[in-house]
This record gives sequence, structure tokens and C-alpha cells, in this order.
Amino acid sequence: MSSKEKLVITAAITGSRIMREKAPYIPYTPEEIVQSSMECWRAGASIAHIHVRDPKTGFGTQEIELFQRVVTPLREKTDLVLCLTTSGIPGRNLPYEQRLAPLDLRPELASFDAGSINLGDGVFNNPPDFLDAAARTMKEKGVKPEIEVFDSGMLVTALRMRDDGKLSDPLHLQFVLGTPWGASATPKTLLYLYELMPIDATWSVTGIGKGHLAMSMMGLIMGGHIRVGMEDTIYYDQGILAQSNAQFVERIARISHEYGREIASPRETREILKLRRL
Ligand code: ZN
Repeated sequence: MSSKEKLVITAAITGSRIMREKAPYIPYTPEEIVQSSMECWRAGASIAHIHVRDPKTGFGTQEIELFQRVVTPLREKTDLVLCLTTSGIPGRNLPYEQRLAPLDLRPELASFDAGSINLGDGVFNNPPDFLDAAARTMKEKGVKPEIEVFDSGMLVTALRMRDDGKLSDPLHLQFVLGTPWGASATPKTLLYLYELMPIDATWSVTGIGKGHLAMSMMGLIMGGHIRVGMEDTIYYDQGILAQSNAQFVERIARISHEYGREIASPRETREILKLRRL
């Protein structure tokens, strides 16, 4: 992979865990999520990583109608690659069918959390039978798994599933580093994970909280791709709340431009990640 391959920027718009009391600008309603995704698209993001929230309570939900209210306008108004979550609400462990429901909307990508991990006071449950069901359903529906890796064992799990024929090459990995319970957001951790990856895999990285920008820079220079957004950090800089997701995308586009790495359009992103044609 050339280090000057075009850069795929993913915008992780809202997640399902951070509430407005802490993050006053975080999108909640489908309309707000659409609006924010469009701003990110205009700023250079080619993938929108989508969770939805109950507009009244703000809690994450896997309600298919809410996903529909985000997916339909984004498909009409943009050429964004959509990555829908199958996490549900990490730590609250919704039934499998609810977690996999967004796959009915046939997104080009969907998150695939490749193992269980502690989260807050609980466990984010991704046992083998869930992973098998998720991999099978994604294959049936032509959805490419975006394999989320919070810790090295999750990459080992994904590689095992690939060897067993449950996941197909080329894998696309999303490293999510710096959660308080998983692998740390350091260059050394990322280099270790990088060395475990199959040669033809594509990968993207995000740092949670204060590792956010540092991990972006690692992704930039190592030839990977970058995920940014309020799902992963609500601060633009130390102690300064981000007022929009687009701010994060704009910053990466600016730095990448200076560095000499062009930003991939959604069409180019489909080629880089070998996505099916819509
Ligand atoms: Zn997510």
C-alpha cells in the first residue's frame, strides 16, 4: 500500500453513548444526523458511520425506521458510502436480531465488532455465535464488514474467521484505539496491529478521546485511512468542545492536503475498499 494512496475519511457522527449533557452539539434526531453527515461529506468525508438515537431520550437504538430516516435522504442527496452500526448500544447488549436489523437496508458497509470487551461497568458482548450470525447475514446481503478492532485479540478473531471462510478477503479493519478497556492509542500499538494484518487488507484508525488526532496522524503517514467524529471524541482540542463533526473532517482534509495526500471521493473509496456496486 503506497503511503500516498488517496485518503478515505470516515465521519463517526454520533455513536450511542455520549449524551447531550456532556456534548451539547452532538446530533440526536435523524434530521440532525443527516445534516451533520452532509456537512462532513462536503468537507471531504466519503464514509458516514451511522448510529441512530431515540429523538426523545437521546439513547442509542436499533429502530429500523430511524435508520431509514437517515439512510433515505443521504442516498438521495449524497454519494456517501454508508456504514451502519450493528453494535446496538455497546454494553447494553440488545438481541441479535435488533443489532442486525439495519442490514436490511443493504448498506455498503456495516460495523462488525470482532470480539467481546469490558465497557464501563459491563461487557460489550460479541460472542462467537453472534459473530457467525453477523458474518453470515452480511454475506447474504452483500454488506462488507467493517471489522472494528478494540484490542489485538479481536484482530486475531477476525483472522481466524477469515481462515474458516466466514470473512472474505480483502478485509477492511477499523482500529478503535484508546478505549479505557482496550488497546491504547499509541504508535507502538498501531504498529503491532499493522504487522498482524493481511497484506491486502485495508485499514482505518481512530483514537478515542485524547488520542484522536495522534492516531489520525499515524493513519496519514502509514498509508491507512482515518475515522474522526463525535462518536470518538467530543473535544476538538484540549478542553475545547467540537461544535460540529465537519470541523474534524476539515482539519484532516487540511493536514492531508499539506502533507500531499489527496482525499478519496466516495467513488474512489468504493474502489479502494472493493465495495459492491449499488
Ligand atoms: Zn459506532
